[in-house]
Amino acid sequence: MSIGRNDLCPCDSGRTYKKCCLSASEPAADELFWQRMHAALDALLNQYERDAVPKPLPGQTAKTIQDIRERLGL
Ligand SMILES: [Zn+2]
Repeated sequence: MSIGRNDLCPCDSGRTYKKCCLSASEPAADELFWQRMHAALDALLNQYERDAVPKPLPGQTAKTIQDIRERLGL
């Protein structure tokens, strides 16, 4: 069985694998990719909301945007 990102790290640090040894074993490019992805999505969502004003966003669309923001910590 392989280690999941949210499992406890096998090094007994008590931290999750993704916050411990996984980050040390993954290439830095992964981190850079997600930084860019966050920035791009944040800009996209901001643009979308600006363009939608003053029309209120349809309920489900607004909820989806909120969900994306929460998942990404934007
Ligand atoms: Zn570890």
